[in-house]
Amino acid sequence: MKAVTYQGKKKVEVKEVADARLEKKDDIIVRITSTAICGSDLHIYNGEIPGMHDDYIIGHEPMGIVEEIGPEVTKVKKGDRVIIPFNVACGQCYFCQHEMESQCDHANEAKDTGGYLGYSDSYGGFAGGQAELLRVPYGNFGPFVVPEDAEMEDEKLLFLSDIVPTAWWGVENAGVKPGDTVIVLGCGPVGLLTQKFAWMKGAARVIAVDYIPYRLQHAKLTNNVEIVNFEETKDVELYLKEITRGGADVVIDCVGLDAKKTVVEKVETALMLQGGSLGAFRIASEVVRKFGTIQLVGVYGLNYNLFPLGHLFERNITLKMGQAPVIHYMPQLYKMIKENKFDPTDIITHRLPISRAEHGYKVFQEKEEDCIKVVLKP
Ligand code: NAD
Ligand code: ZN
Repeated sequence: MKAVTYQGKKKVEVKEVADARLEKKDDIIVRITSTAICGSDLHIYNGEIPGMHDDYIIGHEPMGIVEEIGPEVTKVKKGDRVIIPFNVACGQCYFCQHEMESQCDHANEAKDTGGYLGYSDSYGGFAGGQAELLRVPYGNFGPFVVPEDAEMEDEKLLFLSDIVPTAWWGVENAGVKPGDTVIVLGCGPVGLLTQKFAWMKGAARVIAVDYIPYRLQHAKLTNNVEIVNFEETKDVELYLKEITRGGADVVIDCVGLDAKKTVVEKVETALMLQGGSLGAFRIASEVVRKFGTIQLVGVYGLNYNLFPLGHLFERNITLKMGQAPVIHYMPQLYKMIKENKFDPTDIITHRLPISRAEHGYKVFQEKEEDCIKVVLKP
């Protein structure tokens, strides 16, 4: 089968590899029909995720048709159309039973964190879904079976695998409530969906921050948010505090480690409290109001010195973060898409055959060709 493989920093290659096959009795094999590149894949691409090695198959936003099932699988059958969540989760442990599937006890026991598809040996070592075939562990829990009467194209449903429930969880976990002022850092796919959901939760103001003009324009046109370009705004933190009269109730960081390092360095020297390497987080910690909440959806994936703990403590800030538990959100968000409560497809700018994955990674990483979201078609 063809698959997108990691080949060292800033290098992916579509290779012919051995077909995915059943390994455990409750595995399923899915023939992938659509699979997206995520901002989280850019952390891999940029060599920021430990535990990657050459030939590792990347990808965690797939959907397709069930090709084969293990003898213990009862939830799906051959021929079912399924969306595969990025969380690898057993469905049986305390965390899976309490809507915390991103920290399943059995998906990454060695490290006692969650396990994720296509996300290196540090997160369970599972092969990813940017491939023609995918082995999905725990076939009786994670896969969402698309009802047969749903006449929706893949593109409307694909992001239920990750960024739609991730963005939804972000606003829920942050406790966004009617009347809130919400600042969303980042206008990538995750930030753009987060902005939509902040409105749906009743926010009175949604302010989007980025530095890439075409992405800010997209945010304004499709989500009707106020936009702030932090490169063009002198003292962006002061400016945001002024226009929000003291700071936002909630700041949602949909950046994490910025994909374009040069810009992060610039942000660091220009905007950080006291050095370090936490570009967007530093903005968040300054523009959240006293007793406000910072929610980190963007992936940081490393440890930091000079973390401004005292600054957060003295202002009574609540800090929340992590990989989103997506599985329990899939049915309700599927229903919302079906009922046209929101449309996640406006972020798609690139549709490419999987053979052109390399190009997809490059334009998504470098923000070229006005790229927002890339969907690959095996
Ligand atoms: P993306 O790279 O397309 O978007 C990031 C955006 O942030 C870019 O538009 C960039 O220009 C902007 N940016 C950079 N520095 C900034 C700053 N200091 N302030 C404001 N904006 C800034 O990626 P994406 O697909 O939207 O993903 C965003 C983040 O969410 C990534 O870190 C990704 O790993 C993470 N993610 C987390 C989860 C989870 O479960 N927590 C799930 C999916 C994605
Ligand atoms: Zn993702």
